[in-house]
Amino acid sequence: MTKWVKRGQKQCNVFHTNKDCRQLKREPIKATQRDIDILELSECKVCAGEADYSPCDRGYYEALKEAADD
Ligand SMILES: [Zn+2]
Repeated sequence: MTKWVKRGQKQCNVFHTNKDCRQLKREPIKATQRDIDILELSECKVCAGEADYSPCDRGYYEALKEAADD
């Protein structure tokens, strides 16, 4: 299953399994399993059908870029 993360100013420490998730307001980017492991991403509650929102924080994309620099 393809997993997605949100591109933009505010980043979530979650991945999305639904590319059309409304938490993905901008063009989503694919997340690899390695990204998910390193960043300890959890599944979006909205995609999982458990909640109407998901927690977000800043700095996620920077962490993703750092992880990709290895
Ligand atoms: Zn989602």
